[in-house]
Amino acid sequence: MTEDILLKNYTTFKCGGNARFFDEPTNEQEIIDDLKYAKDNNLDVFVLGGGANCLISDKGFDGLVIRTAGLAKEINITEDGDTATVTAGAGIKLISFAVKVANAGFAGTEFATGIPGTLGGAVFMNAGAYSGEMRDIITKVRYIDGDGIPHEVGGDDLKLGYRTSVFAQMARQGKVFVITRIEAKVRRGNIEEINSKINEYKTKRTTSQPLDVPSAGSTFKRPEGYFAGKLIDDAGLRGYSLEGSNAQVSPKHCGFVVNNGGKASAQDVYDLIRDVSDKVYGKFGVRLEPEVRIIGEFDGMPDVNVMSFGFKYGEPAEADLVFDVRTLKNPYWVPELRPLSGLDKPIIEYLDGFEETEGFVEGLIKDTSDAIAKRPDGAGKFTVAVGCTGGHHRSVFCAQRLAAGLKASGYHVVTRHRDILKDNADG
Ligand SMILES: Cc1cc2nc3c(=O)[nH]c(=O)nc-3n(C[C@H](O)[C@H](O)[C@H](O)COP(=O)(O)OP(=O)(O)OC[C@H]3O[C@@H](n4cnc5c(N)ncnc54)[C@H](O)[C@@H]3O)c2cc1C
Repeated sequence: MTEDILLKNYTTFKCGGNARFFDEPTNEQEIIDDLKYAKDNNLDVFVLGGGANCLISDKGFDGLVIRTAGLAKEINITEDGDTATVTAGAGIKLISFAVKVANAGFAGTEFATGIPGTLGGAVFMNAGAYSGEMRDIITKVRYIDGDGIPHEVGGDDLKLGYRTSVFAQMARQGKVFVITRIEAKVRRGNIEEINSKINEYKTKRTTSQPLDVPSAGSTFKRPEGYFAGKLIDDAGLRGYSLEGSNAQVSPKHCGFVVNNGGKASAQDVYDLIRDVSDKVYGKFGVRLEPEVRIIGEFDGMPDVNVMSFGFKYGEPAEADLVFDVRTLKNPYWVPELRPLSGLDKPIIEYLDGFEETEGFVEGLIKDTSDAIAKRPDGAGKFTVAVGCTGGHHRSVFCAQRLAAGLKASGYHVVTRHRDILKDNADG
């Protein structure tokens, strides 16, 4: 493990500050050791794949960055008639993986032969292009959780959707984990057809994308019913940049924000992303959400207060949005949990243990983000309050998960519990 490592060297955007701690584990045991170190020292953890979809703050990351590039590089292809099962380490470059499978005469990975980054990052993002996506080939994923325990998840449980997965959901909920291996299923194909597809996609990419300038690919997600690049172009923002900044909307592809000459700071890129999103919203009423993962603190991040409270003292007057989480099961009625306070591990495990919890928390994050997006410019700090009966088990749990999700979506978040001393007699 090393300290104070400059992260701009590990991202395709070529900007970003230092990691306080940094490690490149070469096997699962080293990952487990890293995670234990982080837990023992109360450090936040960020897992970095190829850094092809990350905007890391100039202020860096005040915790441990685990970079997966050092993990085992082998790709095993086991043929079974007309299909093959491919297993590979998560730190392998997606392009190497896709090309190796294609060269072995199997179809299905052509779409991925031009997507930068690692396999782990591609699963997390459900990366895709030209009508193909990781969802079409991935069958199983192995990961290590924050307590160092290995898990396997497969099939529908991977929840692969447009640029999302169960892993993106877990990250939004503040969970720590490292994807270590993936398994994919591919079918035999015609090598000429495979190569012709690969060449076609390559030509499309080189003619339409600014591949010679640092970027993270498409900066924004595709809003339902629209194309981000077209909206940006129609808003007159082709080639647009803020005064004195080297971050620019690519003149070649409006969906890409680029870092000209590698001279833009992460803050420059962040400011442009926000400005473009606001301008498009102002013109068309469509909010562009970053596809790029925004890591760390940036100036001008929208401020959100997340407050937990008990309904028995009434709803907080200052709240812009109030959630009632009394429908979640109440740990207060579990005798062994009754004496514990809000964030003790058994309580988190109890509340996490219900199938509905994940969807419930996702709903809180989505509704809050939607409410913030609809506010007029300069509306100031947003306060969201999460309430349960009168105590703080469910409200604190949900508020913590909501705060982690909002943080991961690029908000500056402050959390607090209202009247904790008065409330803690009840659940
Ligand atoms: C020129 C260019 C073109 C691009 N074109 C496309 C495209 O066509 N389609 C597309 O979908 N994307 C595209 N991208 C974006 C990017 O390539 C993908 O999102 C890619 O899958 C990111 O992988 P990564 O390893 O770099 O992830 P990173 O950027 O390192 O990380 C992305 C997220 O995944 C998490 N993560 C990464 N690895 C792990 C792991 N092992 N365990 C747990 N979490 C992990 C990180 O914490 C982070 O939240 C493009 C980018 C560039 C620069």
